[in-house]
Amino acid sequence: MKTLYLIQLLNVIFFTMAKFELLTLPYGAKALEPVISEQTIAYHHGRHLQGYVNNLNKLAEGTPFESMNLEDIVRQSDGGMQNNAGQILNHNLYFLQFAAPSSDARPVGDLAAAIDRQFGSFENFQKEFVQAGAALFGSGWVWLEAGADGKLYISQYANAANPVQKGLTPLLTFDVWEHAYYLDWQNRRPDYLNALWQIIDWQVIEERYQGR
Ligand code: MN
Repeated sequence: MKTLYLIQLLNVIFFTMAKFELLTLPYGAKALEPVISEQTIAYHHGRHLQGYVNNLNKLAEGTPFESMNLEDIVRQSDGGMQNNAGQILNHNLYFLQFAAPSSDARPVGDLAAAIDRQFGSFENFQKEFVQAGAALFGSGWVWLEAGADGKLYISQYANAANPVQKGLTPLLTFDVWEHAYYLDWQNRRPDYLNALWQIIDWQVIEERYQGR
């Protein structure tokens, strides 16, 4: 009886606490150096992303959105609710696609074949992707996204937008908001974008492609 009461009490506490939580990084704060420094992780993950989580918890409280997943909120809301949920979704996908730097990080599996088929080669895909990120005016994200048929697209999205809003599956993303790179790369956005290839965990991207 006592155990049951304790479980019920914990449930009450849990469900009245903040619903949306800060992503726990699956690597250490220095793991991505020198591409992304410990200091950038501290601000980008610890301050910016935490800020979006806090904002969404305040905005969603007492609304139907508090029990929805991030994808559904992004698809169904607008204004600040959509912006903050979008930024959480985008950053979760961004931070979860990284691993320690490796000079031979390359696409694997069906996605590797699809990239070669559509873009000619991985190198050509990289060039087009970086160009899209470098040319994006202001704050936003460059995405590799897939249709249900497996077709790939490179797209620029402003501010907090995400491919799920177009019914596409988000695969790979480079954050081009200045807060993502300014501490490490200052105004050299193309250098930051080119360096990111070293830390992409292509197994994660392939799993997203398989899950479309
Ligand atoms: Mn960011």
